[in-house]
Amino acid sequence: MATILDGKALAKKVKEEVKKEAASLERVPGLAVIIVGNNPASRVYVNSKRRDCEECGFLSEEFALPEETTEAELIDLIQTLNGRADIDGILCQLPLPDGINEEAVLMAIDPEKDVDGFHPMNMGALLIGKDGFLPCTPYGVMQILDEYGIDPKGKHCVVVGRSNIVGKPQSILLLQRHGTVTICHSRTPNLGEVCRTADILVAAVGKVNIITADMIKPGAVVIDVAMNHNDEGKLCGDVDYAKAKDVASAITPVPGGVGPMTRAMLMKNTLLSAQKRQG
Ligand code: NAP
Repeated sequence: MATILDGKALAKKVKEEVKKEAASLERVPGLAVIIVGNNPASRVYVNSKRRDCEECGFLSEEFALPEETTEAELIDLIQTLNGRADIDGILCQLPLPDGINEEAVLMAIDPEKDVDGFHPMNMGALLIGKDGFLPCTPYGVMQILDEYGIDPKGKHCVVVGRSNIVGKPQSILLLQRHGTVTICHSRTPNLGEVCRTADILVAAVGKVNIITADMIKPGAVVIDVAMNHNDEGKLCGDVDYAKAKDVASAITPVPGGVGPMTRAMLMKNTLLSAQKRQG
């Protein structure tokens, strides 16, 4: 039976540390969250970010804009927030309504306030190993590995998924920690065969049970990033958890694994931004 990598407990610990450090600053960290339109999932995410800010003692300001907001109006708001001294982090909840170019919007955020770590400046910094904001999900995964003493050095790390927000940055972070990294995607033949060679397997696809127990090497560490809903509408990951936990040496549950850590790392990034801004 695998060790359950408890992201929920670790996230609580991270947020407590963030709160303590935030309290020692002259000015509390400030996070601006922009939501455009009426996407119910986005609303849930934004609400939880507000609660996280409250928990950490941050200033949180929400900008709920109507569906018909134009790209120019949105960028105007971002530019105003870029200039505000009390705002350390700006986050624009994705997806944005049709007609708004996400890339243009993300590019408008000052990289120094890009606490999601999605701006090309921060992505580029990650690629060449310079300081910048790390995208919260892969950053959270690395915290989980560190907390449980799992060192990627010399390990074969297989990342399934190559998105800009999860798979790619995750691969770079594992590489920086001296893992030997293989990235899989929708055109990878023999996915099972590749996964079976993984000492550390990170699943970030978004398909229920795409990773079955027979795709896991006995004793491997399994990190399930995905947030899917099964036929009964229950939140679940990419991994067949019930069977995989008997094969893996350690595994993240869904819910209670990577998800809470993503939220905690957003708070951490906002704190880091505030600390930098206040010298
Ligand atoms: P995404 O942009 O849709 O990327 C999915 C990736 O999976 C793509 O690279 C795709 O390959 C690959 N893929 C699709 N079908 C595949 C297959 N049959 N075999 C192998 N690879 C396949 O998704 P994302 O934004 O990275 O998110 C991935 C999952 O993580 C989702 O469930 C999302 O909800 C979840 N997520 C969770 C958190 C969290 O906090 N826990 C944060 C972000 C995302 P191609 O590139 O070839 O299309």
